[in-house]
Amino acid sequence: EKGKPLMLNPRTNKGMAFTLKERQILGIQGLLPPKIETQDIQAMRFQRNLRKMSDPLQKYIYLMGIQERNERLFYRVLMEDIEALMPIVYTPTVGLACTQYGHIFRRPKGLFISIMDRGHIRSILDNWPETNVKAVVVTDGERILGLGDLGVYGMGIPVGKLCLYTACAGIRPESCLPVCIDVGTDNETLLKDPFYMGLYQRRDRSHRYDELIDEFMEAVVDKYGQDTLIQFEDFGNHNAFRFLKKYREKYCTFNDDIQGTASVALAGLLAAQRATGKPVTEHRVLFLGAGEAALGIANLIVMAMMEDGMTQAEARKKIWMFDKYGLLVQGRAQETDSNQEAFVHPSPGAVSTFLDAVNVLQPTAIIGVAGAGRLFTHDVIKAMGTLNERPIIFALSNPTAKAECTAEDAYSLTQGRCLFASGSPFGPVTLEDGSILTPGQGNNAYIFPGVALAVILSGVRHISDTVFLEAAKTLAEQLTDEELSQGRLYPPLSNIREVSVRMAIKVAEFLYAKGMAFRYPEPLDKEALVRATVWNTNYDSFLPDVYDWPGVSHSPL
Ligand code: NAP
Ligand code: MN
Repeated sequence: EKGKPLMLNPRTNKGMAFTLKERQILGIQGLLPPKIETQDIQAMRFQRNLRKMSDPLQKYIYLMGIQERNERLFYRVLMEDIEALMPIVYTPTVGLACTQYGHIFRRPKGLFISIMDRGHIRSILDNWPETNVKAVVVTDGERILGLGDLGVYGMGIPVGKLCLYTACAGIRPESCLPVCIDVGTDNETLLKDPFYMGLYQRRDRSHRYDELIDEFMEAVVDKYGQDTLIQFEDFGNHNAFRFLKKYREKYCTFNDDIQGTASVALAGLLAAQRATGKPVTEHRVLFLGAGEAALGIANLIVMAMMEDGMTQAEARKKIWMFDKYGLLVQGRAQETDSNQEAFVHPSPGAVSTFLDAVNVLQPTAIIGVAGAGRLFTHDVIKAMGTLNERPIIFALSNPTAKAECTAEDAYSLTQGRCLFASGSPFGPVTLEDGSILTPGQGNNAYIFPGVALAVILSGVRHISDTVFLEAAKTLAEQLTDEELSQGRLYPPLSNIREVSVRMAIKVAEFLYAKGMAFRYPEPLDKEALVRATVWNTNYDSFLPDVYDWPGVSHSPL
């Protein structure tokens, strides 16, 4: 049995890369084909197989299978071809995988905590085999991407996000814990699906739910320490805001849908500012959607405007929101909630459609975060093109089918003048004149891995919004002028590892400078610390440390 568990554990397995000595010493000689392979060859085999597959879901299943067998090889391949594979492990394919979760399930990944486990979460955490957890991503599955309530099938999201913690920022996989909290689902299809894997009950929205989340937070810090990072992901709107407010000063936590999105969207605006020369204070922004993403982005834009000298009141007046019922204006029939209040303005005149809102408010930027599909119609895009020399059009809803418009429409209907970003990837677009524009992907993955690495390394107690402002600036700075001229608002995804590492360095410097870091003594060279920490995918050696004592005599003199 000596070496067999090492082969069966994806964290230690090296497949045919176990060396001859290792095979002999570990007692696994003969259990593998005779050839000793390098990781290079293994990676090549894996990439070839992937290239043969055309169906993204099939690729997802194959990739997850490798993760279950050989973790280092999985990350090696993911990192080498991150641009092609991020859309598989993350949006849009991860969305499809979540809807199919019960059908494509092979092995469980992550920790499942149900509302039936109330009072026992601490002992469930003790069942998790890793003791050195630094980062937790948790969902309750209520608002998975723009797909709605997927209940326990939402587990695909924390799993995918944490893959990016490791692939983009080199955070060790064993330090990452994906969690899905099951309090039921209101998804009628799943409640009738015999393959569903969660509790067959409607969502518990009572005090028991809140007590469960409270207990979860306490159990995590009790087990892994006060500075464990807890990222909230894809909670329903109401709960997302409530928990952020409730926990942000008490725990090391953030909500990626609110704060991470805000940061990546603001980075896009800051990059656009480099193209247009127009400072952020001169923008008028109209949102489609008034939920987590919209409010997160809006509040961070306000912070950025205030840094440039505006008052909060002035800044807020520059931001408008349009939701399912129309423009958010004072005295409208449908209620607005307290989070939206700052962006509810006196009516600017008759507005019934989003196109009306564009024509009346004359925004410099429209940002789509409604999760409701192609609502930036041709007329809307054309109107933006008429109103602005360089209109900013962000279609951030995920997955691809939910995006407010395609890159092709945005560019062609504005004769290539618009500055476009989307949440899910779109390929380059060739215009009539033959020029090629590469749309930016306003992907939260540009933000959360780098921020998380900085937070983990610096020993942060709680995460201020200024951290996300700093991250946005750092991201925008990393775009080169050449990339900008290609239409990009974000650095190419293929560079995301270096982008994240540089962000982590900058954010760590910021955290220490602002007195928010509590890891002492303060590391003088943050760059050296960050670079020394990032994990790589080289295999460890399992050979014992065997050596001679030079010139030592074991006979009496
Ligand atoms: P949310 O909190 O549920 O907010 C959705 C908002 O859109 C609500 O204000 C909703 O209004 C509004 N809405 C729904 N249907 C609409 C319609 N037909 N017309 C106008 N407004 C409509 O969700 P969220 O967290 O903000 O996420 C929204 C979308 O953004 C999702 O697709 C998500 O994937 C995407 N997102 C993208 C990124 C990224 O790319 N970086 C990051 C985060 C989120 P009611 O409240 O009245 O229903
Ligand atoms: Mn999300």
